[in-house]
Amino acid sequence: MRYNVSQLLKEQSGGMREYSLHEEIGQIDPDIVALTTLDGDVRFIRTADGILVLGKLHTSVELMCSRCLERFSLPVQVALEEEFLPSIDILTGASLPVLPDQEQATMIDAHHILDLTEVVRQNILLAIPPSPVCRSKCAGLCPHCGKNWNEGPCECKEDNIDPRMQVLKQLLDQ
Ligand SMILES: [Zn+2]
Ligand SMILES: [Zn+2]
Repeated sequence: MRYNVSQLLKEQSGGMREYSLHEEIGQIDPDIVALTTLDGDVRFIRTADGILVLGKLHTSVELMCSRCLERFSLPVQVALEEEFLPSIDILTGASLPVLPDQEQATMIDAHHILDLTEVVRQNILLAIPPSPVCRSKCAGLCPHCGKNWNEGPCECKEDNIDPRMQVLKQLLDQ
C-alpha cells in the first residue's frame, strides 16, 4: 500500500490520482485475521499542505463470538479520510518542520512514499467491535454443560432453575 507521490506533490492543489486496491493484509496486525484481500478504491487529492486521501475499502476478518465462542467472518468497511503531509519539500529537497499533532502514520517519507498501511490497520481495528457476536440472536453457551444453544437445547434444562429453588426442590424430593 505504498505509493510514490512525487509527481502529485509537484502539482497544484486539486491535482488528483485514483487507485484500485487489491491487497493481501494477512501480516498487517497480529489481532487482525483477514479472510479476504482488502479491496476498494482510493483517491489522492493534492491540498495546499499535502495530500488528502479518501477511500472506501472492504475486507472480511475472522473473529470469535463473545457469546458462543465460535469463529465467524465479519465484513469490515473502512472509510479513509486522512491528510498526509510531506517531510521533504518536493521542490527544494529541504526538510519540513513536523507539526506537533502530526502522526507518523500520515507522514510522506523522504523518498516521497505515501504508505497507507498504518492508517488502514488503525481503521480496521476501530471497525472491530469490542464484544463481537456471530449473529444478533446468538443464544450463547449453556453455563452448565457448555453446549452451544445455537445448535439446540441441552439436556440440563432442569438444572437451570434458580439455585435457591434447587435447595427447596431437594428438600421436597426427600
Ligand atoms: Zn455466537
Ligand atoms: Zn446445558
